[in-house]
Amino acid sequence: MSARISTLWDSVGNTPLLRIGTLSRGTGNEVLGKAEFMNPGGSIKDRAAKGMIRAAEASGQLKPGGTIVEGTAGNTGIGLTLLGRERGYRVVVTMPDNQAREKYEFLEAMGADVRKVPVVPFANENHFFHQARRLAEANPGWFWANQFENPANADIHAETTAEEIWEQCEGKVDVLVASCGTGGTLGGVSSALKKKNPKLEVVLADPSGSGLYSYVREGKLEATGGSITEGIGIMRLTENFKRARIDQAVRVTDQEMIEMLYHLAREDALVVGTSAALNVRAAWELSRQRPNQGLRIVTFLCDHGSRYASKVFNPAFLESKALSVRALQA
Ligand code: PMP
Repeated sequence: MSARISTLWDSVGNTPLLRIGTLSRGTGNEVLGKAEFMNPGGSIKDRAAKGMIRAAEASGQLKPGGTIVEGTAGNTGIGLTLLGRERGYRVVVTMPDNQAREKYEFLEAMGADVRKVPVVPFANENHFFHQARRLAEANPGWFWANQFENPANADIHAETTAEEIWEQCEGKVDVLVASCGTGGTLGGVSSALKKKNPKLEVVLADPSGSGLYSYVREGKLEATGGSITEGIGIMRLTENFKRARIDQAVRVTDQEMIEMLYHLAREDALVVGTSAALNVRAAWELSRQRPNQGLRIVTFLCDHGSRYASKVFNPAFLESKALSVRALQA
């Protein structure tokens, strides 16, 4: 192949690190977003999908023409399908039935076998995670990616995401802010960057309904309420999360997240998804708490807002959740 012709596989990663103009100018620090929506499947989870497929091919768990099964909020399924189809695999995903319809549509368009399952707590055997595991058990030879516990998830973030950030920042990165779905991003990136800069401050951004905020603050997994954010927030400790080196946690409400989502779209021309808006909101809070220190605060723009248009750009949906579109409230 000509050196200029690529594959989806080789297009994962090497995303730009964007300076968020309005938030940087306003606080005297630099708020930077890693543009993960520019991955070929449109999200940060393409990296995890690549890492898990690569490891399974190397170990022989995934054989030519094989089947990959995974429980996912959608983005990991999209990454596995995109890369898996390119490499000749079949992909089956179990997914909670309350996610943005754009994600199911994208998956089905790429030929994934999508099994929607009811939204239930993790302890319930019908949770998407357990249903994926059972499908793998019932079908010998199928490869269950198991993104929550599979170390290949955090490994690829340490190897690629952290290295890219370090290089793009030329070694000056003061604060890292990220939310957690599996913990792969935070587990891999925080551990790798702290090795390079032990003074790096790592901040977990957590939505309502997730137990991680109270876990970081008080050592207890507790939460009330819920969130419209997708792909983030958990009520258990995963192997990938356990690798994270976290200094403090910030809670972000859906109202705060939506204000930031619209601010980024309208003022910075950055149309991002709900987890990205939540990450940036937490980064902005930190920046405002320590004004004019020239800090470099890095966070993740995990996916694109178009993936949630039927929700976040739908006034009836926002109204049903009592969310209002208004300027950023300090
Ligand atoms: N944002 C979005 C949109 C996601 O889909 C996910 C993963 N489910 C995350 C953030 C969290 O990433 P991680 O699994 O690496 O913690």
